[in-house]
Amino acid sequence: MMHGFIPPQRYFAYLTWQQIEALPDKAHVVIVQPMGAIEQHGPHLPLAVDAAIATAVLGKALTQLPEALPAYALPPLYYGKSNEHWHFPGTITLSAETLRQILLESAASLYRAGFRKLIWLNAHGGQPQVLDMAARDLHQTHPDLMVFPHFVWNVPNPAAELLTPKELELGIHAGDAETSLMLSILPDQVQPDQAVCEYPHGLPTDGLLSMEGALPFAWVTRDLTRSGVLGDATVATVAKGDRLLAALADGWVRVIEAVHRFQQPAAWRDEPHPDESLKTRPPEPPPP
Ligand SMILES: [Zn+2]
Repeated sequence: MMHGFIPPQRYFAYLTWQQIEALPDKAHVVIVQPMGAIEQHGPHLPLAVDAAIATAVLGKALTQLPEALPAYALPPLYYGKSNEHWHFPGTITLSAETLRQILLESAASLYRAGFRKLIWLNAHGGQPQVLDMAARDLHQTHPDLMVFPHFVWNVPNPAAELLTPKELELGIHAGDAETSLMLSILPDQVQPDQAVCEYPHGLPTDGLLSMEGALPFAWVTRDLTRSGVLGDATVATVAKGDRLLAALADGWVRVIEAVHRFQQPAAWRDEPHPDESLKTRPPEPPPP
């Protein structure tokens, strides 16, 4: 059962090389890499939360996807860049450089096989910047490769309705949202009797600098919490988790469909612009 939450017929690693070779129209097959982390999530949740969320949401979305739409899930990337949780035992972190190399080299392997559409479906808040930069670099070196560095929570979902305003602003790790979702997807691995409420300590009150947002300061998790929780895990419920999971899965069905339809803009390749003043285009760089 290596596919876990992923429907087996959508699990890339179950295919043979001949089946990969024979896939029709590989340039429009959507490949999705679920990405998480192995990092502390407080006293009540397992290390695998982010990997579990990415994979469970994707698995549910793939179950709902129209059968005719070609899409495959890669094996989950369990490890991520988690050095903010460095001081809490059990956290395993890759450096930004290592994570970047994994992303670049796995994408190059998929490209070599003929795939051109790759979604990184990431559920760990500590690494989107690495993904953004690697995605752009890949598109620069492989102009016909379309890479989508996406965060699992960035599709419409009822978090604003289900969580308190304080939780929405400050509950960024192992709080109500993640705990509720885990009660829905892996209930046996949650210890509700160990759940705590701990909001970040010592935040600036100047109205300018903040933990996240436009004018952030750098922090590691032990600066802000003793338990490892940032948020209120005590109010999590399976009902909230079920609603979040359903909404996230619906959202990812729509994203995968959009990626399947997507065409990369290519102003540099378009027919000459009718407006004389816009007829120039960047020169082709010399061959390497
Ligand atoms: Zn998490």
